Amino acid sequence: MIGAIDIGGTKIAVGIVDDGGAVLAKLESPTRGERGYADGLARITSMLREAAQKAGAEISGIGIGSTGWVYPFTGEFGDVDFLPTWKGCNPVKDLERVFNVRVALENDGDASALGEAAWGAGRGKQRLIYITVGTGIGGGIILDGQLYRGVDRSHPEIGHHVIDASGPACTCGFRGCWEALATGPAMAAWYKSSAGGNGANLGAKEIFQLAREGDARARSAVERETYYLALGLANLIGLFVPDMIVLGGSVMKSIALEDVRKVIAQGCRFVPWEKTQLALASLGEDANLIGAARVWHHRYL
Ligand SMILES: [Zn+2]
Repeated sequence: MIGAIDIGGTKIAVGIVDDGGAVLAKLESPTRGERGYADGLARITSMLREAAQKAGAEISGIGIGSTGWVYPFTGEFGDVDFLPTWKGCNPVKDLERVFNVRVALENDGDASALGEAAWGAGRGKQRLIYITVGTGIGGGIILDGQLYRGVDRSHPEIGHHVIDASGPACTCGFRGCWEALATGPAMAAWYKSSAGGNGANLGAKEIFQLAREGDARARSAVERETYYLALGLANLIGLFVPDMIVLGGSVMKSIALEDVRKVIAQGCRFVPWEKTQLALASLGEDANLIGAARVWHHRYL
């Protein structure tokens, strides 16, 4: 029984996950980064104890998936926008001391990739890329069953490859990154600006709904979203030709994969692109938590 911790911008979720990837109990709390690290750690500790009690389980290890920047092998937090007071803190060491078990930490994109590869849509795939599209674009790469890491075992930022150098400015320093063009907020910003800046402030979910009702401008926004999403996926197929790309996140619930494939088919002619399967993530709303548990398995088993 693994204690799983998913640390995100709006909430921290904690759960007990068995060795088949099933969530036996879970609890959530708003992230509340402004309250400081000690408060966050205390909440995580008490939620883990309560979840273990609910599940009638003894925790034999703890896995953490967190929005980056984190250092998986020291356990330290780096510069995370919404957790400024956590910088330099080490929940891995602190939780090891409290629970007396081994603890493993990864970026949440990598955690979800590991979860989908072990227990979800990507089961049994040797070359797998996981992508989540919501307010940002994150992901993880699995090659030959192992998590791909960069220099210093760093986490590659797939969402920041440039799609259109004349596109909107991105937080990373470039313009027109995949994340600046194909997220829900990017779609909403385009929808607003397409009406000469006078468009309504609608979220991606509402724009998808309007498009289904036949609204022409909303349909253009969805077409544009699909196009940029597909361009980024085409780049990944061209670079890696993976067995499968697993797609998760709120935006993916409303995108037609056959339309994505039509865009990919316009290029990619020098690789067997049609052999790369596109699949929706299958672990559902607990995907991050299940992925966090898998982080422990991947590190220690
Ligand atoms: Zn960027």
